Amino acid sequence: MVFALDLEGVLAPEIWPILGERFELPELALTTRDLGDFTELMKRRVAATRTRGLTLADLKSVAHAVEPYLGARDFLARLRGLGQVMVISDTFHEFSEPLMRKLGGHVLFANRFELEPDGLLKGFKLRIRGQKERIVSGFHAAGYRVAAVGDSLNDLSLLKSCDYPLLFRPVEALRVEFPSAPIALNLDDALRTLELVAREVERNGG
Ligand SMILES: [Mg+2]
Repeated sequence: MVFALDLEGVLAPEIWPILGERFELPELALTTRDLGDFTELMKRRVAATRTRGLTLADLKSVAHAVEPYLGARDFLARLRGLGQVMVISDTFHEFSEPLMRKLGGHVLFANRFELEPDGLLKGFKLRIRGQKERIVSGFHAAGYRVAAVGDSLNDLSLLKSCDYPLLFRPVEALRVEFPSAPIALNLDDALRTLELVAREVERNGG
């Protein structure tokens, strides 16, 4: 089976608020909880970095220092013993590849930045936005059962399209969308639930 996990808020802290604080740019710290339209949100973040003259290298120097939540690496290693593990996130490869290595080197599906020749951000390629459902349906087509873990509304399509949604410390709006889905308050809880799921899938020959 496949375990498809969100990154920020589940395995590690949100990166943009850390950037906003470090560079004292409140525009960077806005999240989908403040502004529902992700493209608009990204445009504002990119514009804010340009006003300040922050290059991708500046942003990476902070983003690459972000550490996983305590126990997240072991959590993923345990899941890997039960199935395939991948992270499907609205983060950017340029920010999160080192984090993925700290988490044990699992597969990451994420977005990419577009750059100016001088290293300033020009824009972004949202490869993941709206594609999460398609990634899951690809696994289904290949005969895999999919369990997904997310914490916020940007995980909605991932959680809706998978076979076993698990809400991790969810925002209220997500809880309302999945009144009967299990909720985990920490990674130990999440592991216990996913172990049961894996056992059920195995019993059913998946
Ligand atoms: Mg999240």
